[in-house]
Amino acid sequence: MRLISYQSNTGPRLGVVRGSDFAPIPDLDMLRLIEMGEAGLKQARAASGSLLPLNSVTLLAPLPAPRRNVFCIGMNYVKHAKETAEARGREFKLPTHPVFFTKATTTVNGPYADIPVDPKISGQMDWEAELAVVIGQPGKNISRQNALDYVFGYTVVNDVTARDMQDNHIQFFKGKSLDGACPMGPWIVTRDEVKDPHALPIRCSVNGTLKQNSVTNDLIFDIPAIIEWLSKGMTLLPGDVIATGTPGGVGFARNPPEFLKPGDVVECEVEGVGKIRNQVVAV
Ligand code: MG
Repeated sequence: MRLISYQSNTGPRLGVVRGSDFAPIPDLDMLRLIEMGEAGLKQARAASGSLLPLNSVTLLAPLPAPRRNVFCIGMNYVKHAKETAEARGREFKLPTHPVFFTKATTTVNGPYADIPVDPKISGQMDWEAELAVVIGQPGKNISRQNALDYVFGYTVVNDVTARDMQDNHIQFFKGKSLDGACPMGPWIVTRDEVKDPHALPIRCSVNGTLKQNSVTNDLIFDIPAIIEWLSKGMTLLPGDVIATGTPGGVGFARNPPEFLKPGDVVECEVEGVGKIRNQVVAV
């Protein structure tokens, strides 16, 4: 199933996609549905209200207000780890441990919403197409053998990054956490519909020009490894979102470097999951 959150006059609502339409799922939001486990999925499958065209509503991030920060993995594709080392004049070494950081909940943005950019705050806004995992049940010290049992589904994220702030503040958090810097969606695809999450083509284009083009089998730490590492001594919760890292081809590592400017249109796609499309707008 593909599950959406959309804007209504009274706040976010939940729906299940049926072709180019969707059926509203009454009395639930995404977080509550995920927490209900199998009962929530059953309710979504049974949604029988009249269908509405998807393009008749404004889609929101599938989890419009996550209860905690979006978890992220840095430098998790070989090519991106290499280009980052080169751009920063560092020696390239494959990481032995995943690099974890988070994005503030206020970064979460709709799949087709504008990405706000304030040139006074950052002149180096960059793109990062990523496959994201949505956790389905609480778990701690999860083994890689069982890790996929904890996955509710998958979505697409653009881990928009202010590179100048990322550099200046040393830790990733500030440069990763500007308002609206985490477009997400357009839906959550439930786990059963993604046969192999490590065989998905992933792409990013800016104004129609392909910038990133890879496959999720190039992940250094695969999804079970990420869940195993992240859950060590730390409980993962239903509705947690984990962005799994971005492939090579980001802006700052290009020669010459490229950054997003107002008017640019960024598209991030993971085949079999979805595609988000956002315009950069000066604020
Ligand atoms: Mg990233």
